[in-house]
Amino acid sequence: MSADCIFCKIIRGEIPSTMVHQDDQVVVFKDIHPIAPVHLLIVPRLHVASLAECAETERDLLGHLLLLAPKLAAAQGLKGFRTMINTGREGGQEVFHLHVHVFGGGDTLPRT
Ligand code: 5GP
Ligand code: ZN
Repeated sequence: MSADCIFCKIIRGEIPSTMVHQDDQVVVFKDIHPIAPVHLLIVPRLHVASLAECAETERDLLGHLLLLAPKLAAAQGLKGFRTMINTGREGGQEVFHLHVHVFGGGDTLPRT
């Protein structure tokens, strides 16, 4: 846990969010500024700043994050979805608590 981290505050219930899934390792809530009709954030309860700070000890947690994505997408009725992990300022990361974006719905996503 990190006192000033916005996602840790959401996990502690100090900041409201729209939760769609919670288990012993992660919480999943809706992004406050969605870029698609469905836009979820999979956030580990453990405070790790980014993918670059993950070590072998996070192997199971990382597997859990990724294996959860298709289950969440199916529960949201998505036929396909996109995952995104921004890492570091130059990677577009704004919140320095590891998270996986899952988004889709509506028109076809742009090719990257
Ligand atoms: P990043 O650029 O770090 O990968 O993405 C951070 C994401 O967190 C952004 O898409 C942003 O909209 C979302 N976000 C930032 N603050 C909050 C918040 O307080 N609540 C929720 N639900 N999402 C947030
Ligand atoms: Zn945190």
